[in-house]
Amino acid sequence: MAKVLLIGAGGVGRVVAHKCAQVREVFADIVLASRTLGRCEQIKKEIADKGLGDIAIRQVDADNVPELVTLIHEVKPQLVINVALPYQDLTIMEACLETGVHYLDTANYEHPDTAHFEYKEQWALHDRFQKAGLMALLGSGFDPGVTNVFCAYAQQNLFDEIHYVDILDCNAGDHGYPFATNFNPEINIREVTAKGRYWQEGKWLETEPLSVRIDHDYPEVGVKASYLLYHEEMESLVKHLKGLKRIRFFMTFGESYLTHLRVLQNVGMTRIDEVEHDGHKIVPLQFLKTLLPDPASLGPRTKGKTNIGCLIKGIKDGKPRQVYIYNICDHEECWAEVNSQAVSYTTGVPAMIGAMMMLQGKWQGKGVFNMEEFEAAPFMDALNNHGLPWTVLEMDPADA
Ligand code: NDP
Repeated sequence: MAKVLLIGAGGVGRVVAHKCAQVREVFADIVLASRTLGRCEQIKKEIADKGLGDIAIRQVDADNVPELVTLIHEVKPQLVINVALPYQDLTIMEACLETGVHYLDTANYEHPDTAHFEYKEQWALHDRFQKAGLMALLGSGFDPGVTNVFCAYAQQNLFDEIHYVDILDCNAGDHGYPFATNFNPEINIREVTAKGRYWQEGKWLETEPLSVRIDHDYPEVGVKASYLLYHEEMESLVKHLKGLKRIRFFMTFGESYLTHLRVLQNVGMTRIDEVEHDGHKIVPLQFLKTLLPDPASLGPRTKGKTNIGCLIKGIKDGKPRQVYIYNICDHEECWAEVNSQAVSYTTGVPAMIGAMMMLQGKWQGKGVFNMEEFEAAPFMDALNNHGLPWTVLEMDPADA
């Protein structure tokens, strides 16, 4: 039985706290710390109201390493689960190294001043984690996270060689607002407005933002326009999938979202540099975040489903094979269970499961690891048992 420290009390933090509290045989003690204590208090109350017991709460500025070190020394957790923002990854990893505690996150490091995210800085900490005898598990959300595990499962159980992977992220939920983002608006808009990128035959190829579209028929959802984006799991998967020829990532967006985004971009509201306004310096994208609905508030309004999965083509026993491995999640069911919509749910559940894999010793290592480096089966079993059941759909290998 373990003690965990969760950092970040946003949409995802709420789900991780609820899901850990549902599995007390693993997570006996839960401490939730975040920048705004009031958010932690709210989640503590919700968990108690659901009869899931008590959690402790703390205030912390996760940009400040000495503050984190003091907190970790006081709390003495076995593992820190970082579900604050990608900007805090390095400070929290540094604090874990200084205090000798294992680490897990759901998104790779991004510098606040450049809309560019990559694993370089976190992978560079591998030797220090290894020497300290500690494990850091990177990207234990859905994408990255479960999508990496789906690929690992395919490599370990379904294919001799994997040639093509398309990661497909469909959110067919409707929250009734003309424009809102399902997770942190700043992170979401930075991701969507960046150039697209995919990997083919050993090279990264760049595309203009949202310029490549496919219309894909998602099981239980139907045909949705899906746009090529760069997404971080591809960076580690190209290292770990054998025989890969191409990997791409697509996400669905509705017309209303895209029209609003285009206008906001054209008028400069998605800029991430400082501008002078009435004698104050403001970052337009941060100001926009203040105006937009809080993603956590979308939960009770959102109806519909998500369908996220990996379309994988390759060879098994000398014959071509194609499968789609996917999960479907219902926004309203997530709300009923943990007061959250499916985008936070599909991220928070795998964060809890990754933590469980580490604490139960099913996934072990010294250093910094991505999800596909471990045996997929125990994680896949846990997905079925903790709210994210999956399906392997056998497809005609000739289908494009
Ligand atoms: P939110 O913005 O809802 O929550 C972030 C939380 O972190 C807030 O409670 C915020 O505090 C807190 N926080 C921010 N800065 C600090 C700081 N310096 N010190 C302490 N706490 C801080 O984001 P989400 O919950 O939607 O996302 C959380 C993480 O999950 C992000 O890294 C995101 O990229 C990742 N994610 C991963 C996905 C995946 O599939 N892998 C999908 C979706 C998200 P405050 O309340 O004061 O603002």
